[in-house]
Amino acid sequence: MAQNTIAIVGRPNVGKSTLFNRLVGERKAIMDNESGVTRDRHYGHGNWTGKYFTVIDTGGYVRGSDDIFEGEIRKQVDLAINEADVILFMVDVDAGVTGLDQEFADVLRRSKKPIYIVANKADTHARGHLAGEFYALGFEGEIFPVSSQNGSGTGELLDAVVSHFKEEGIENPEAGIPRIAVIGRPNVGKSSFVNLLLGEDRNIVTDIAGTTRDSIHSHYKAFGKEFIIIDTAGLRKKSKVHEDIEFYSVLRSIRALEDSDICVMMLDATRGIEAQDMNIIGLADKNRKGLVILVNKWDLVEKETNTVRDMEKAILERIAPIAYPPIVFISVENKQRVHKAIETIIQVHENRSMKIPTSKLNDAMLKEIERYPPPSIKGKFVKIKYVTQLPTNTPTFAFFCNLPQYIKESYARFLENRLREHFGFEGVPVNLVFRKK
Ligand code: GDP
Ligand code: GDP
Repeated sequence: MAQNTIAIVGRPNVGKSTLFNRLVGERKAIMDNESGVTRDRHYGHGNWTGKYFTVIDTGGYVRGSDDIFEGEIRKQVDLAINEADVILFMVDVDAGVTGLDQEFADVLRRSKKPIYIVANKADTHARGHLAGEFYALGFEGEIFPVSSQNGSGTGELLDAVVSHFKEEGIENPEAGIPRIAVIGRPNVGKSSFVNLLLGEDRNIVTDIAGTTRDSIHSHYKAFGKEFIIIDTAGLRKKSKVHEDIEFYSVLRSIRALEDSDICVMMLDATRGIEAQDMNIIGLADKNRKGLVILVNKWDLVEKETNTVRDMEKAILERIAPIAYPPIVFISVENKQRVHKAIETIIQVHENRSMKIPTSKLNDAMLKEIERYPPPSIKGKFVKIKYVTQLPTNTPTFAFFCNLPQYIKESYARFLENRLREHFGFEGVPVNLVFRKK
């Protein structure tokens, strides 16, 4: 099945991300008026008159500053030409034809793909008439005056765009691909980590004051497997909007977490685990996500014989009773154990969908139960007869017994620990349920 793809190109501030959000029917990007724009993701999915499509906001891949260079224009346009079936070249009726628009036009002319000029900010009918001026850019075909903000004109535009799509398209091309959220306090090294994985600087790793951005979804391949990485990228503080940004930054972490299958919790080795990290870990557990802890900046720590063990112990003590996440000590800067981190993330994802055959489960667990049966309560004996894994998303085990209400929390924990000893499930929360039989 074809994946119908639309790319939006154009100079900064014409309204690309506003249109993107409208087309994907969600308002995920958080606008920060102080600095222009912050972005959420650059790939989204939409549907118009029964045709599904993917939209790429190419501007999201280029540095979000006003002084944009020729190389960056080329990068944006190449991305559009390579990936899209239809290109939307966005301009701004307020500003009229600018030099940068001309530069975009020159590069775009190489494309054999259908290109529509979208004359944005035509909020009123009168302003729509200004769109004619863009014929000067020298493209054949219709120009669409739209207002990305209030939606006018976007229907006509989409009618024209989807006429190029022969097939219905794929409703959600991301279905089934593991989604990994990289979460952690600002400056722990999340973007550096994601950039290292992506092997190109798709995100802006900043020392530039005031750079803002939003979470970014990137496709990534490792060991022949595809992932979607959700980098919640810390927003830089701008003094005036500091509180808002902190607030949104936490909010976005939570959203990214809810949106993911696996939470990669990144800590700074020089600072250890802090209250906010523990909240996120608690939330990941509550939402039954896979969990991996990466302790970054390991290069900055003075090491002695037991440093790793001590730190691991300290972290596990803080997050108790959650005991299942693997902890990997890395240095993104020195590329130390980054591979190990990826392998661990892949393993956790596999653990999450692991199914244990009932016979194996009973062989192992009934022996454990025989060796250490549930304690009697008020003279009553609980008898567990068999165990089976239920066909759920998160590993869930049903223990069938005569008196399920008498199973105590401590005994359930004993069973969980034995289960993990036998079958692993590292990094994955497991559910135990007790049913009457
Ligand atoms: P991008 O840099 O091309 O992605 O542009 P943005 O989507 O971030 O928009 C830049 C600015 O133009 C923001 O302040 C938007 O609110 C504003 N904007 C976007 N679309 C419209 C529109 O249709 N009408 C008006 N009046 N403003 C718009
Ligand atoms: P984010 O806010 O979590 O996305 O953090 P960044 O990726 O922007 O990194 C913050 C700072 O820490 C940058 O100056 C990085 O160069 C630095 N950094 C990242 N990883 C490491 C590391 O492994 N060791 C050291 N020493 N510095 C690092």
